[in-house]
Amino acid sequence: MKHRFFYTILFILFLCTACATSPTGRNQLQLFSSQKLSEMGRMSYRQLKKDEKVIRGQDVNSFVNCVVRSINSALPASAGSKQWHITVFDNDEAVNAFALPGGYIGVYTGLLKVTDNQDQLAAVIGHEIAHVTAGHPNARLSSQYATQAGLQTVSAFLEGQVGGSTRTIMALLGLGSQVGLLLPFSRSQEQEADILGLQYMARAGFDPEQSIQLWRNMAREGGKPPEFLSTHPSDYSRIQSLQAHLPEALELYRRAGQQNRRPQCRP
Ligand SMILES: [Zn+2]
Repeated sequence: MKHRFFYTILFILFLCTACATSPTGRNQLQLFSSQKLSEMGRMSYRQLKKDEKVIRGQDVNSFVNCVVRSINSALPASAGSKQWHITVFDNDEAVNAFALPGGYIGVYTGLLKVTDNQDQLAAVIGHEIAHVTAGHPNARLSSQYATQAGLQTVSAFLEGQVGGSTRTIMALLGLGSQVGLLLPFSRSQEQEADILGLQYMARAGFDPEQSIQLWRNMAREGGKPPEFLSTHPSDYSRIQSLQAHLPEALELYRRAGQQNRRPQCRP
């Protein structure tokens, strides 16, 4: 009996070393070090830049850079601001964007066509950055690879052995549509990214009401749903949840104005 108690305690201690609390207080498994995550992010980013057409034009790049820089400079200390590498991909069909651990952001020209202004782009970028700061890629990889064999799969990826699991790893990091393997974030992860993303954009001085407008516009798009929607299920409850958190975001936005945070990013 004594032994059983001892092993139970030991097991709980083991679980807790791999467990972490997300910014909104959810418990999640985090098996990988931030260094390993960054490495996976870097390799995936490099692969995408090799496979897809990159836009070098100055105007669009400085627009996206301006939005990312503004959000980054106003992130709460817990999110840890970092140097983001940013690429704009030339694909008008892809209504999409991503952020990867290690500080890598990709925006597709298709997304820039459906966002009406800097604030709507900030809403998407805030959401994507929030997935990273909340540790969602780590949680997804951890639950998928919580075994010895799984850990070896990740090591093989990091050593550059491109195998069948490469696509899965990239999809778990948040690059589903890019690798043709949709593994959407869970509803609770989406909701957390929405709430944090709304705070991030507002703290940077972007109008949080534009976030709700963007989701409305996207929900209204008929026909084949854009990629951003199929990996990020949009529905009535999502807009309702954003609306519920709007008053607090508007207060952050007001305070940002007092600190002269009102970005002027132009496409
Ligand atoms: Zn998302």
